[in-house]
Amino acid sequence: MPPRLRNDCFALPPGVDWVPLEDALARLRDRVTPVVPVETVPLAAIRGRVLAQDLTARRANPPSANSAVDGYGFAGGALDELVTLPLAAGRSAAGEPYQGALPKGQALRILTGAILPDGMDTVVLQEDVEATGGKLQFYGPLKLGANTRRAGEDFTTGDLVLPEGRKLRPEDAALLAAAGYSEVPVFQRLRVGVFSNGDEVIAPGQTAPEDMGAGKIYDSNRPMLLSLLEQWGFTPVDLGHIEDSRAALRHRLNTAQGQVDAVLTSGGVSTGDEDHVSALLREEGQIETWRIAIKPGRPLALGLWPQGDSPLPVFGLPGNPVAAMVTALLFARPALGAMSGEGWTMPQGFMVPAGFAKNKKPGRREFLRARMTPEGRVEVFKSEGSGRISGLSWADGLVELPDAALKVGEGTLVRYIPFGSFS
Ligand code: AMP
Ligand code: MG
Repeated sequence: MPPRLRNDCFALPPGVDWVPLEDALARLRDRVTPVVPVETVPLAAIRGRVLAQDLTARRANPPSANSAVDGYGFAGGALDELVTLPLAAGRSAAGEPYQGALPKGQALRILTGAILPDGMDTVVLQEDVEATGGKLQFYGPLKLGANTRRAGEDFTTGDLVLPEGRKLRPEDAALLAAAGYSEVPVFQRLRVGVFSNGDEVIAPGQTAPEDMGAGKIYDSNRPMLLSLLEQWGFTPVDLGHIEDSRAALRHRLNTAQGQVDAVLTSGGVSTGDEDHVSALLREEGQIETWRIAIKPGRPLALGLWPQGDSPLPVFGLPGNPVAAMVTALLFARPALGAMSGEGWTMPQGFMVPAGFAKNKKPGRREFLRARMTPEGRVEVFKSEGSGRISGLSWADGLVELPDAALKVGEGTLVRYIPFGSFS
């Protein structure tokens, strides 16, 4: 098993109290390593799993030179205008190759996927020929090697087919099967616990809307985060809602031991009177609060809860659902990815013309809820207020505006990151 996190691993160097986004990501990246054991899964079950070792081809593809079409094969290509060749008896079919070598100067019936016998290197399409009375006729020219596949032209035995850390997709099953695998070693799914905090927060379904007291709100973050974790290929573990009480929190963290590899929690991570998560971790575990120059997203808290010789990492996200979502995507996603064995990955963004105007102030990286218009421009949600949960559903992704000041007008190229890029 790889080493777990050290007790002081999230501490910033003395004097650093404000971190640009890239620095924060680089620091976090240095501190997370795979923590999950390996298991074996059959090819049909690989989607979303993370390959635990480099895999090399056990067999070449194609294993032998064969025909790419149904037609007639012969040797040497054809330069003549009108080609006439005697037809040999028999044929070569997929799985039923022609026995022996094709006599020089003759042609043979061959079907798609059938091995080219010795004495054959070129195939003419059946639609392009006249084959009657033991004789084949067609119009050239036809290049040597036409309509054939060379042995090993795709990959050959010993070639690396997929690297360790690959997040496996359905297409990979085709590749792995061709390369001689029926099952592959993958990392066990990372188990990530989620709990919410706050006396004002009520679990959906616990209290009917008409019975909710003033000041109470439904827990939006827990179902969102659990669902995100599932989308990312991890095993979400619902650790419930915890009232603002240290005893309840301590109990939940202790009972989570051995059941989860990391915890995402939202709310209660600042330094207010009722921010019990940060207080408890500070008193009995360890917590570092990084002030990161992004909007939305207040400080990100990175905690470690003691458990044996490998403390449990706790990602403390802001309570505000918009900030919780953005910080989960930006920080928890790559960090959990690295812990799950897939390595540190960053989402792919695209430069697209803006369909909005904004005068961005300098100092912080900004992430706006955004989506593409049918005209191929990116529009942003009408309000930047990070309490507007409806904007999360409205959006299909985020626009990322640089740390520096920027005057965005219609048509300015801005970076758009679809939500799907984070998966
Ligand atoms: P906090 O980070 O605890 O100060 O919370 C910031 C804001 O987010 C407050 O308005 C909270 O009521 C709200 N909030 C905290 N947790 C949740 C949650 N699980 N679902 C929805 N809103 C929340
Ligand atoms: Mg709170």
